[in-house]
Amino acid sequence: MSDLDRARAALRSIFGFEDFRPGQDEILSAVLDGEDVFAVMPTGSGKSLCYQLPAVLGDGLTIVVSPLIALMANQVAQLRANGISAAALNSSLTWDETRALRDDVAAGRLKLLYIAPERLMMAETQRLLAAAGVARLAVDEAHCISQWGHDFRKEYLALGDIQEALGAPQVIALTATADVATRSDIVARLFRREPRVFVHGFDRPNIRLAIRRKDGAGTQIAAFLEEHRGESGIVYCSTRARTEEMAATLAGRGFRAIAYHAGMDMETRARNLDTFLQEDGVVVVATIAFGMGIDKPDVRFVAHADMPKSVEAYYQEIGRAGRDGLPADTLTLYGLEDVKRYRQWIDQSEASDEQKRVEHQRIGALVSLCEAPRCRRQALLAYFGDRSEPCGNCDVCQDGIVGVDGTVAAQKALSAMYRTGQRFGREHLIAILTGDATDQVTARGHDRLPTFGVGQEFSKVQWRAIFAQLYAAGIADIDMTEHGRWFITEDGREVLKGRRTVELRRDAVEAPAKGSRKTA
Ligand code: ADP
Ligand code: ZN
Repeated sequence: MSDLDRARAALRSIFGFEDFRPGQDEILSAVLDGEDVFAVMPTGSGKSLCYQLPAVLGDGLTIVVSPLIALMANQVAQLRANGISAAALNSSLTWDETRALRDDVAAGRLKLLYIAPERLMMAETQRLLAAAGVARLAVDEAHCISQWGHDFRKEYLALGDIQEALGAPQVIALTATADVATRSDIVARLFRREPRVFVHGFDRPNIRLAIRRKDGAGTQIAAFLEEHRGESGIVYCSTRARTEEMAATLAGRGFRAIAYHAGMDMETRARNLDTFLQEDGVVVVATIAFGMGIDKPDVRFVAHADMPKSVEAYYQEIGRAGRDGLPADTLTLYGLEDVKRYRQWIDQSEASDEQKRVEHQRIGALVSLCEAPRCRRQALLAYFGDRSEPCGNCDVCQDGIVGVDGTVAAQKALSAMYRTGQRFGREHLIAILTGDATDQVTARGHDRLPTFGVGQEFSKVQWRAIFAQLYAAGIADIDMTEHGRWFITEDGREVLKGRRTVELRRDAVEAPAKGSRKTA
Protein backbone atom coordinates (compact mmCIF):
# COMPACT_ATOMS: atom_id res chain seq x y z
CA MET A 1 0.00 0.00 0.00
CA SER A 2 1.47 3.35 -1.01
CA ASP A 3 1.75 6.25 1.41
CA LEU A 4 -1.07 7.99 -0.40
CA ASP A 5 -3.34 4.94 -0.14
CA ARG A 6 -2.66 4.79 3.58
CA ALA A 7 -3.44 8.51 3.76
CA ARG A 8 -6.71 8.01 1.89
CA ALA A 9 -7.70 5.20 4.20
CA ALA A 10 -6.98 7.43 7.21
CA LEU A 11 -8.89 10.29 5.59
CA ARG A 12 -11.97 8.05 5.59
CA SER A 13 -11.57 6.23 8.86
CA ILE A 14 -10.32 9.10 11.01
CA PHE A 15 -11.62 12.28 9.39
CA GLY A 16 -14.71 10.76 7.80
CA PHE A 17 -14.12 12.40 4.40
CA GLU A 18 -14.87 10.55 1.18
CA ASP A 19 -11.86 11.68 -0.87
CA PHE A 20 -9.20 14.34 -1.17
CA ARG A 21 -10.02 17.80 -2.32
CA PRO A 22 -8.17 19.07 -5.43
CA GLY A 23 -4.52 19.57 -4.57
CA GLN A 24 -4.53 17.79 -1.23
CA ASP A 25 -3.31 14.48 -2.62
CA GLU A 26 -0.32 16.02 -4.39
CA ILE A 27 0.69 18.03 -1.35
CA LEU A 28 0.27 15.06 0.97
CA SER A 29 2.44 12.88 -1.25
CA ALA A 30 5.27 15.38 -0.98
CA VAL A 31 4.84 15.78 2.78
CA LEU A 32 4.75 12.02 3.30
CA ASP A 33 7.93 11.78 1.20
CA GLY A 34 9.60 13.99 3.80
CA GLU A 35 10.00 17.06 1.62
CA ASP A 36 9.63 20.61 2.83
CA VAL A 37 6.42 21.94 1.35
CA PHE A 38 4.95 25.37 0.71
CA ALA A 39 1.25 25.25 -0.19
CA VAL A 40 -0.72 28.23 -1.44
CA MET A 41 -4.47 27.66 -1.49
CA PRO A 42 -7.51 29.84 -0.82
CA THR A 43 -9.18 29.98 2.58
CA GLY A 44 -11.49 27.06 3.16
CA SER A 45 -9.83 24.80 0.60
CA GLY A 46 -8.58 22.34 3.21
CA LYS A 47 -4.97 23.27 3.90
CA SER A 48 -4.96 22.03 7.50
CA LEU A 49 -5.37 18.43 6.42
CA CYS A 50 -2.00 18.66 4.65
CA TYR A 51 -0.19 18.62 8.00
CA GLN A 52 -2.84 16.98 10.19
CA LEU A 53 -2.92 13.74 8.23
CA PRO A 54 0.90 13.34 8.13
CA ALA A 55 0.94 14.12 11.86
CA VAL A 56 -1.46 11.27 12.49
CA LEU A 57 0.25 8.82 10.14
CA GLY A 58 3.84 9.63 11.02
CA ASP A 59 5.90 9.36 14.17
CA GLY A 60 6.79 12.17 16.49
CA LEU A 61 5.31 15.52 17.32
CA THR A 62 3.96 18.04 14.81
CA ILE A 63 4.02 21.65 15.95
CA VAL A 64 1.53 24.00 14.35
CA VAL A 65 2.34 27.69 14.53
CA SER A 66 -0.74 29.82 14.17
CA PRO A 67 -1.32 33.48 15.06
CA LEU A 68 -4.98 33.07 15.83
CA ILE A 69 -5.69 31.66 19.28
CA ALA A 70 -9.44 31.43 18.67
CA LEU A 71 -8.94 29.26 15.59
CA MET A 72 -6.49 27.06 17.46
CA ALA A 73 -9.05 26.06 20.08
CA ASN A 74 -11.47 25.25 17.32
CA GLN A 75 -9.06 23.01 15.44
CA VAL A 76 -7.96 21.23 18.57
CA ALA A 77 -11.57 20.50 19.51
CA GLN A 78 -12.24 19.07 16.04
CA LEU A 79 -9.14 16.88 16.12
CA ARG A 80 -9.98 15.54 19.56
CA ALA A 81 -13.51 14.78 18.38
CA ASN A 82 -11.85 12.59 15.75
CA GLY A 83 -9.81 10.82 18.42
CA ILE A 84 -6.51 12.55 17.67
CA SER A 85 -4.35 13.66 20.58
CA ALA A 86 -3.95 17.39 20.03
CA ALA A 87 -3.53 20.40 22.28
CA ALA A 88 -2.87 24.12 22.16
CA LEU A 89 -0.19 25.93 24.12
CA ASN A 90 -1.02 29.58 24.57
CA SER A 91 -1.66 32.31 27.11
CA SER A 92 -5.26 31.23 27.71
CA LEU A 93 -4.18 28.15 29.71
CA THR A 94 -4.09 28.07 33.50
CA TRP A 95 -0.89 27.17 35.30
CA ASP A 96 -2.13 23.63 36.00
CA GLU A 97 -3.23 23.11 32.42
CA THR A 98 0.14 24.29 31.20
CA ARG A 99 1.94 21.84 33.47
CA ALA A 100 -0.22 18.91 32.38
CA LEU A 101 0.40 19.84 28.78
CA ARG A 102 4.16 19.96 29.32
CA ASP A 103 4.01 16.47 30.79
CA ASP A 104 2.10 15.22 27.76
CA VAL A 105 4.67 16.71 25.40
CA ALA A 106 7.61 15.32 27.37
CA ALA A 107 6.05 11.85 27.46
CA GLY A 108 5.38 11.87 23.70
CA ARG A 109 1.64 11.55 24.17
CA LEU A 110 0.74 14.28 21.67
CA LYS A 111 0.50 14.11 17.89
CA LEU A 112 -0.22 17.79 17.29
CA LEU A 113 0.65 20.81 19.37
CA TYR A 114 -0.74 24.20 18.31
CA ILE A 115 1.31 27.08 19.53
CA ALA A 116 1.33 30.86 19.20
CA PRO A 117 4.54 32.24 17.67
CA GLU A 118 5.45 34.37 20.69
CA ARG A 119 5.23 31.29 22.89
CA LEU A 120 7.46 29.31 20.59
CA MET A 121 10.12 32.03 20.84
CA MET A 122 10.55 31.42 24.57
CA ALA A 123 13.74 29.51 25.37
CA GLU A 124 11.89 27.40 27.91
CA THR A 125 9.38 26.23 25.28
CA GLN A 126 12.15 25.44 22.83
CA ARG A 127 13.99 23.33 25.43
CA LEU A 128 10.86 21.35 26.15
CA LEU A 129 10.13 20.74 22.49
CA ALA A 130 13.70 19.89 21.56
CA ALA A 131 13.83 17.31 24.35
CA ALA A 132 10.56 15.76 23.19
CA GLY A 133 11.68 15.79 19.53
CA VAL A 134 9.85 17.71 16.83
CA ALA A 135 9.20 15.82 13.61
CA ARG A 136 7.33 18.51 11.70
CA LEU A 137 6.86 22.25 11.92
CA ALA A 138 3.67 23.42 10.25
CA VAL A 139 3.42 27.18 9.76
CA ASP A 140 -0.11 28.41 9.21
CA GLU A 141 -0.72 31.89 7.78
CA ALA A 142 2.87 31.78 6.58
CA HIS A 143 2.56 35.20 4.89
CA CYS A 144 2.88 36.74 8.38
CA ILE A 145 6.64 36.26 7.99
CA SER A 146 6.83 38.71 5.11
CA GLN A 147 6.88 42.46 5.32
CA TRP A 148 5.48 42.58 1.79
CA GLY A 149 2.39 40.79 3.03
CA HIS A 150 -0.61 42.45 4.60
CA ASP A 151 -0.25 40.90 8.03
CA PHE A 152 3.39 41.01 9.05
CA ARG A 153 4.15 39.73 12.56
CA LYS A 154 7.64 40.12 13.84
CA GLU A 155 7.56 36.92 15.93
CA TYR A 156 7.20 35.02 12.67
CA LEU A 157 10.58 36.31 11.51
CA ALA A 158 12.39 34.10 14.00
CA LEU A 159 10.76 30.93 12.64
CA GLY A 160 13.62 30.51 10.20
CA ASP A 161 16.26 30.66 12.93
CA ILE A 162 14.72 28.50 15.63
CA GLN A 163 14.46 25.41 13.46
CA GLU A 164 17.99 24.40 14.38
CA ALA A 165 17.14 24.50 18.09
CA LEU A 166 14.13 22.30 17.41
CA GLY A 167 16.24 19.67 15.68
CA ALA A 168 15.67 20.77 12.06
CA PRO A 169 12.17 19.39 11.58
CA GLN A 170 10.39 19.03 8.26
CA VAL A 171 8.69 22.35 7.42
CA ILE A 172 5.20 22.66 5.98
CA ALA A 173 4.07 26.24 5.33
CA LEU A 174 0.58 27.28 4.31
CA THR A 175 -1.01 30.51 3.17
CA ALA A 176 -3.91 31.82 1.14
CA THR A 177 -1.89 34.83 0.01
CA ALA A 178 -1.10 34.44 -3.62
CA ASP A 179 1.05 37.48 -4.17
CA VAL A 180 4.29 36.49 -5.87
CA ALA A 181 6.59 38.90 -4.02
CA THR A 182 5.25 37.73 -0.66
CA ARG A 183 5.66 34.13 -1.68
CA SER A 184 9.28 34.39 -2.66
CA ASP A 185 9.92 36.26 0.57
CA ILE A 186 8.36 33.37 2.53
CA VAL A 187 10.55 30.85 0.75
CA ALA A 188 13.67 32.91 1.48
CA ARG A 189 12.95 33.56 5.15
CA LEU A 190 11.31 30.38 6.36
CA PHE A 191 12.90 27.48 4.55
CA ARG A 192 16.38 26.16 5.11
CA ARG A 193 16.23 24.03 1.97
CA GLU A 194 14.34 24.43 -1.30
CA PRO A 195 10.67 23.52 -0.65
CA ARG A 196 8.22 21.98 -3.10
CA VAL A 197 5.74 24.75 -3.91
CA PHE A 198 2.10 24.01 -4.67
CA VAL A 199 -0.48 26.52 -5.85
CA HIS A 200 -4.05 25.36 -6.16
CA GLY A 201 -7.65 26.32 -6.33
CA PHE A 202 -7.60 30.02 -7.13
CA ASP A 203 -9.98 29.72 -10.02
CA ARG A 204 -13.47 31.13 -9.52
CA PRO A 205 -15.00 30.02 -12.80
CA ASN A 206 -18.43 31.53 -12.14
CA ILE A 207 -16.99 35.05 -12.16
CA ARG A 208 -16.82 36.63 -15.60
CA LEU A 209 -13.75 38.79 -16.10
CA ALA A 210 -13.50 41.91 -18.23
CA ILE A 211 -10.86 44.63 -18.24
CA ARG A 212 -11.10 47.76 -20.33
CA ARG A 213 -9.24 51.01 -20.85
CA LYS A 214 -10.80 53.90 -19.00
CA ASP A 215 -12.57 56.26 -21.36
CA GLY A 216 -15.08 58.17 -19.26
CA ALA A 217 -15.47 55.98 -16.17
CA GLY A 218 -18.95 57.32 -15.22
CA THR A 219 -20.45 56.37 -18.58
CA GLN A 220 -18.63 53.02 -18.77
CA ILE A 221 -19.68 51.97 -15.26
CA ALA A 222 -23.28 53.11 -15.82
CA ALA A 223 -23.46 51.06 -19.03
CA PHE A 224 -22.15 48.02 -17.17
CA LEU A 225 -24.67 48.49 -14.32
CA GLU A 226 -27.46 48.84 -16.90
CA GLU A 227 -27.01 45.10 -17.57
CA HIS A 228 -27.41 44.44 -13.85
CA ARG A 229 -30.38 46.54 -12.79
CA GLY A 230 -31.98 45.22 -9.63
CA GLU A 231 -28.88 43.26 -8.60
CA SER A 232 -26.54 43.90 -5.68
CA GLY A 233 -22.98 44.89 -6.43
CA ILE A 234 -19.89 46.87 -5.54
CA VAL A 235 -18.15 49.65 -7.46
CA TYR A 236 -14.62 50.34 -6.24
CA CYS A 237 -12.98 53.74 -6.56
CA SER A 238 -9.45 54.74 -5.58
CA THR A 239 -10.27 57.75 -3.39
CA ARG A 240 -12.99 58.88 -1.01
CA ALA A 241 -13.84 61.88 -3.16
CA ARG A 242 -14.29 59.67 -6.20
CA THR A 243 -16.69 57.34 -4.38
CA GLU A 244 -18.92 60.31 -3.55
CA GLU A 245 -18.77 61.59 -7.14
CA MET A 246 -19.44 58.20 -8.67
CA ALA A 247 -22.31 57.46 -6.26
CA ALA A 248 -23.91 60.76 -7.27
CA THR A 249 -23.42 60.05 -10.99
CA LEU A 250 -25.01 56.62 -10.65
CA ALA A 251 -27.85 57.89 -8.46
CA GLY A 252 -28.51 60.49 -11.16
CA ARG A 253 -29.04 57.61 -13.58
CA GLY A 254 -31.58 55.95 -11.36
CA PHE A 255 -29.44 53.41 -9.53
CA ARG A 256 -29.71 52.81 -5.81
CA ALA A 257 -26.10 53.82 -5.24
CA ILE A 258 -24.65 54.61 -1.83
CA ALA A 259 -21.14 55.63 -0.93
CA TYR A 260 -19.00 53.90 1.66
CA HIS A 261 -15.55 54.94 2.84
CA ALA A 262 -13.50 55.34 6.00
CA GLY A 263 -13.97 59.12 6.05
CA MET A 264 -17.71 58.85 6.75
CA ASP A 265 -19.02 58.91 10.30
CA MET A 266 -19.62 55.53 11.90
CA GLU A 267 -23.36 55.88 11.94
CA THR A 268 -23.71 56.58 8.23
CA ARG A 269 -21.30 53.82 7.41
CA ALA A 270 -23.17 51.28 9.55
CA ARG A 271 -26.47 52.35 8.00
CA ASN A 272 -25.15 52.06 4.45
CA LEU A 273 -23.68 48.67 5.18
CA ASP A 274 -26.99 47.50 6.61
CA THR A 275 -28.83 48.70 3.54
CA PHE A 276 -26.45 46.80 1.29
CA LEU A 277 -26.66 43.60 3.31
CA GLN A 278 -30.39 43.59 3.80
CA GLU A 279 -31.96 45.09 0.72
CA ASP A 280 -31.91 43.96 -2.87
CA GLY A 281 -30.47 45.88 -5.76
CA VAL A 282 -28.17 48.19 -3.84
CA VAL A 283 -24.90 49.36 -5.38
CA VAL A 284 -22.19 50.27 -2.88
CA VAL A 285 -19.62 52.69 -4.24
CA ALA A 286 -16.63 52.22 -2.01
CA THR A 287 -12.94 52.52 -1.43
CA ILE A 288 -11.06 49.27 -0.95
CA ALA A 289 -11.69 49.53 2.79
CA PHE A 290 -15.07 48.04 1.99
CA GLY A 291 -15.45 44.33 1.70
CA MET A 292 -12.99 42.81 4.11
CA GLY A 293 -14.88 40.29 6.10
CA ILE A 294 -18.21 41.18 4.54
CA ASP A 295 -19.90 37.94 3.75
CA LYS A 296 -22.72 38.58 1.32
CA PRO A 297 -23.08 35.54 -0.89
CA ASP A 298 -25.22 37.09 -3.63
CA VAL A 299 -23.07 40.01 -4.78
CA ARG A 300 -23.74 39.74 -8.51
CA PHE A 301 -21.16 42.18 -9.81
CA VAL A 302 -18.00 44.04 -8.91
CA ALA A 303 -16.70 46.96 -10.95
CA HIS A 304 -13.51 48.95 -10.64
CA ALA A 305 -13.89 52.57 -11.71
CA ASP A 306 -10.15 52.89 -11.07
CA MET A 307 -7.42 50.34 -11.50
CA PRO A 308 -6.75 48.19 -8.40
CA LYS A 309 -3.27 48.47 -7.01
CA SER A 310 -1.99 44.96 -7.66
CA VAL A 311 -3.00 41.66 -9.21
CA GLU A 312 -3.56 40.36 -5.71
CA ALA A 313 -5.88 43.27 -4.85
CA TYR A 314 -7.73 42.75 -8.14
CA TYR A 315 -8.24 39.10 -7.32
CA GLN A 316 -9.42 39.80 -3.76
CA GLU A 317 -11.83 42.49 -4.87
CA ILE A 318 -13.48 40.68 -7.76
CA GLY A 319 -13.59 37.64 -5.47
CA ARG A 320 -16.30 39.34 -3.42
CA ALA A 321 -18.71 38.61 -6.27
CA GLY A 322 -20.51 35.31 -6.70
CA ARG A 323 -19.65 33.64 -3.41
CA ASP A 324 -22.85 31.61 -3.85
CA GLY A 325 -21.30 30.00 -6.93
CA LEU A 326 -23.88 31.51 -9.29
CA PRO A 327 -22.78 33.57 -12.30
CA ALA A 328 -21.31 36.95 -11.41
CA ASP A 329 -19.91 39.70 -13.59
CA THR A 330 -16.96 42.04 -13.23
CA LEU A 331 -15.57 45.02 -15.11
CA THR A 332 -12.25 46.64 -14.31
CA LEU A 333 -11.22 49.94 -15.84
CA TYR A 334 -7.63 51.06 -16.02
CA GLY A 335 -5.83 54.06 -17.36
CA LEU A 336 -2.32 55.36 -17.47
CA GLU A 337 -3.36 58.11 -15.01
CA ASP A 338 -4.06 55.35 -12.47
CA VAL A 339 -0.64 53.88 -13.06
CA LYS A 340 1.00 57.27 -12.70
CA ARG A 341 -0.89 58.04 -9.49
CA TYR A 342 0.09 54.76 -7.85
CA ARG A 343 3.68 55.15 -8.90
CA GLN A 344 3.75 58.62 -7.34
CA TRP A 345 2.23 57.30 -4.12
CA ILE A 346 4.90 54.67 -3.96
CA ASP A 347 7.75 57.09 -4.63
CA GLN A 348 6.50 59.53 -2.02
CA SER A 349 5.91 56.85 0.61
CA GLU A 350 8.19 56.17 3.57
CA ALA A 351 8.94 52.64 2.36
CA SER A 352 12.47 51.34 1.89
CA ASP A 353 13.94 51.31 -1.62
CA GLU A 354 13.58 47.55 -1.73
CA GLN A 355 9.92 47.75 -0.81
CA LYS A 356 9.33 50.50 -3.37
CA ARG A 357 10.88 48.33 -6.04
CA VAL A 358 8.53 45.48 -5.13
CA GLU A 359 5.52 47.83 -5.17
CA HIS A 360 6.49 49.13 -8.61
CA GLN A 361 6.74 45.56 -9.84
CA ARG A 362 3.27 44.86 -8.51
CA ILE A 363 1.85 47.73 -10.52
CA GLY A 364 3.73 46.53 -13.57
CA ALA A 365 2.32 43.04 -13.20
CA LEU A 366 -1.22 44.35 -13.13
CA VAL A 367 -0.64 46.59 -16.16
CA SER A 368 0.63 43.50 -17.95
CA LEU A 369 -2.50 41.61 -17.07
CA CYS A 370 -4.64 44.48 -18.37
CA GLU A 371 -2.71 44.78 -21.62
CA ALA A 372 -1.96 41.18 -22.51
CA PRO A 373 -3.79 39.78 -25.58
CA ARG A 374 -4.54 36.60 -23.67
CA CYS A 375 -7.41 34.97 -21.78
CA ARG A 376 -7.81 37.01 -18.57
CA ARG A 377 -8.27 34.02 -16.33
CA GLN A 378 -5.34 32.20 -17.84
CA ALA A 379 -3.15 35.27 -17.27
CA LEU A 380 -4.50 35.78 -13.75
CA LEU A 381 -4.00 32.17 -12.69
CA ALA A 382 -0.59 32.10 -14.36
CA TYR A 383 0.41 35.02 -12.16
CA PHE A 384 -0.42 32.87 -9.15
CA GLY A 385 1.48 29.94 -10.63
CA ASP A 386 -1.61 27.94 -11.51
CA ARG A 387 -1.74 26.63 -15.10
CA SER A 388 -5.03 26.57 -17.04
CA GLU A 389 -6.71 26.58 -20.44
CA PRO A 390 -8.53 29.58 -22.01
CA CYS A 391 -11.69 30.01 -19.95
CA GLY A 392 -14.46 31.07 -22.32
CA ASN A 393 -15.82 33.38 -19.63
CA CYS A 394 -13.83 36.58 -20.07
CA ASP A 395 -13.85 39.48 -22.49
CA VAL A 396 -10.78 38.25 -24.37
CA CYS A 397 -12.18 34.73 -24.86
CA GLN A 398 -15.60 36.04 -25.83
CA ASP A 399 -14.85 39.15 -27.85
CA GLY A 400 -11.63 37.81 -29.25
CA ILE A 401 -9.01 40.44 -28.79
CA VAL A 402 -6.80 39.23 -31.58
CA GLY A 403 -3.07 39.49 -31.49
CA VAL A 404 -1.29 40.69 -34.60
CA ASP A 405 2.39 40.62 -35.41
CA GLY A 406 3.86 43.80 -34.03
CA THR A 407 7.52 42.95 -34.40
CA VAL A 408 8.28 45.74 -36.87
CA ALA A 409 6.48 48.35 -34.76
CA ALA A 410 8.33 47.15 -31.69
CA GLN A 411 11.67 47.33 -33.49
CA LYS A 412 10.93 50.91 -34.52
CA ALA A 413 10.09 51.93 -30.97
CA LEU A 414 13.13 50.15 -29.59
CA SER A 415 15.47 51.69 -32.10
CA ALA A 416 14.12 55.15 -31.22
CA MET A 417 15.14 54.36 -27.63
CA TYR A 418 18.48 52.96 -28.69
CA ARG A 419 19.40 55.85 -31.01
CA THR A 420 18.71 58.39 -28.27
CA GLY A 421 20.78 56.59 -25.67
CA GLN A 422 17.75 55.22 -23.78
CA ARG A 423 17.47 58.51 -21.95
CA PHE A 424 14.05 59.84 -23.02
CA GLY A 425 10.41 59.53 -22.06
CA ARG A 426 7.56 58.18 -24.11
CA GLU A 427 6.28 61.44 -25.64
CA HIS A 428 9.71 62.41 -26.91
CA LEU A 429 10.18 58.99 -28.49
CA ILE A 430 6.75 59.13 -30.08
CA ALA A 431 7.47 62.58 -31.49
CA ILE A 432 10.58 61.13 -33.16
CA LEU A 433 8.68 58.11 -34.50
CA THR A 434 5.83 60.16 -35.95
CA GLY A 435 8.18 62.79 -37.38
CA ASP A 436 7.00 65.59 -35.13
CA ALA A 437 9.83 68.16 -35.02
CA THR A 438 9.09 69.58 -31.59
CA ASP A 439 11.47 72.08 -29.98
CA GLN A 440 12.87 69.31 -27.79
CA VAL A 441 13.43 67.06 -30.78
CA THR A 442 15.17 69.66 -32.93
CA ALA A 443 17.20 71.03 -30.01
CA ARG A 444 18.82 67.63 -29.62
CA GLY A 445 19.16 67.01 -33.32
CA HIS A 446 16.83 64.04 -33.11
CA ASP A 447 15.09 65.15 -36.30
CA ARG A 448 18.22 64.04 -38.13
CA LEU A 449 18.11 60.49 -36.78
CA PRO A 450 17.36 57.68 -39.28
CA THR A 451 14.45 56.77 -36.97
CA PHE A 452 12.80 60.18 -37.36
CA GLY A 453 9.38 59.77 -38.95
CA VAL A 454 9.63 55.99 -39.55
CA GLY A 455 6.46 55.33 -37.55
CA GLN A 456 3.92 57.49 -39.36
CA GLU A 457 1.64 54.53 -40.06
CA PHE A 458 0.39 54.93 -36.47
CA SER A 459 -1.09 57.93 -34.72
CA LYS A 460 0.35 59.20 -31.46
CA VAL A 461 -2.56 57.58 -29.61
CA GLN A 462 -1.77 54.25 -31.22
CA TRP A 463 1.90 54.58 -30.39
CA ARG A 464 1.00 55.15 -26.73
CA ALA A 465 -0.96 51.91 -26.79
CA ILE A 466 1.96 50.14 -28.42
CA PHE A 467 4.38 51.49 -25.81
CA ALA A 468 2.07 50.27 -23.02
CA GLN A 469 2.11 46.81 -24.54
CA LEU A 470 5.88 46.76 -24.98
CA TYR A 471 6.07 47.60 -21.31
CA ALA A 472 3.47 44.96 -20.47
CA ALA A 473 5.35 42.34 -22.45
CA GLY A 474 8.61 43.17 -20.69
CA ILE A 475 10.28 44.27 -23.92
CA ALA A 476 10.91 47.79 -22.69
CA ASP A 477 10.94 49.18 -19.18
CA ILE A 478 10.53 52.57 -17.55
CA ASP A 479 13.08 53.96 -15.13
CA MET A 480 10.98 55.75 -12.56
CA THR A 481 13.96 57.19 -10.74
CA GLU A 482 15.02 59.09 -13.86
CA HIS A 483 11.95 60.98 -15.06
CA GLY A 484 10.39 57.93 -16.65
CA ARG A 485 13.09 57.29 -19.25
CA TRP A 486 12.41 54.21 -21.36
CA PHE A 487 15.04 51.56 -21.79
CA ILE A 488 15.42 48.23 -23.59
CA THR A 489 15.27 45.01 -21.59
CA GLU A 490 17.08 41.74 -22.25
CA ASP A 491 14.02 40.48 -24.17
CA GLY A 492 13.86 43.78 -26.03
CA ARG A 493 17.40 43.31 -27.32
CA GLU A 494 16.34 39.96 -28.79
CA VAL A 495 13.50 41.71 -30.60
CA LEU A 496 15.85 44.39 -31.90
CA LYS A 497 18.17 41.71 -33.25
CA GLY A 498 15.28 39.98 -35.01
CA ARG A 499 15.54 36.86 -32.86
CA ARG A 500 12.16 37.27 -31.25
CA THR A 501 8.71 38.33 -32.42
CA VAL A 502 6.16 40.51 -30.65
CA GLU A 503 2.42 40.17 -30.57
CA LEU A 504 0.26 43.27 -30.14
CA ARG A 505 -3.45 43.67 -29.57
CA ARG A 506 -5.18 44.33 -32.84
CA ASP A 507 -7.74 46.63 -31.25
CA ALA A 508 -4.91 48.90 -30.17
CA VAL A 509 -3.02 49.10 -33.44
CA GLU A 510 -5.75 48.79 -36.04
CA ALA A 511 -8.51 50.89 -34.52
CA PRO A 512 -9.00 54.16 -36.39
CA ALA A 513 -6.73 56.85 -35.04
CA LYS A 514 -8.50 59.16 -32.63
CA GLY A 515 -7.30 62.25 -34.47
CA SER A 516 -5.03 64.63 -32.70
CA ARG A 517 -6.34 64.22 -29.17
CA LYS A 518 -3.54 65.41 -26.98
CA THR A 519 -2.79 63.82 -23.66
CA ALA A 520 0.31 64.49 -21.68
P1 ADP B 1 -8.05 26.28 5.12
O1 ADP B 1 -7.06 26.06 6.21
O2 ADP B 1 -7.50 26.02 3.75
O3 ADP B 1 -8.75 27.61 5.19
P2 ADP B 1 -9.43 24.13 6.40
O4 ADP B 1 -8.25 23.26 6.50
O5 ADP B 1 -9.89 24.81 7.64
O6 ADP B 1 -9.21 25.22 5.26
O7 ADP B 1 -10.62 23.29 5.76
C1 ADP B 1 -11.87 23.85 5.48
C2 ADP B 1 -12.95 22.82 5.72
O8 ADP B 1 -12.87 21.79 4.75
C3 ADP B 1 -12.85 22.16 7.08
O9 ADP B 1 -14.12 22.09 7.64
C4 ADP B 1 -12.31 20.78 6.75
O10 ADP B 1 -12.71 19.82 7.70
C5 ADP B 1 -12.91 20.51 5.38
N1 ADP B 1 -12.15 19.55 4.57
C6 ADP B 1 -10.80 19.51 4.42
N2 ADP B 1 -10.44 18.50 3.59
C7 ADP B 1 -11.58 17.89 3.20
C8 ADP B 1 -11.88 16.78 2.33
N3 ADP B 1 -10.91 16.10 1.69
N4 ADP B 1 -13.17 16.44 2.16
C9 ADP B 1 -14.15 17.13 2.78
N5 ADP B 1 -13.95 18.17 3.62
C10 ADP B 1 -12.67 18.56 3.82
ZN1 ZN C 1 -10.86 33.66 -20.85
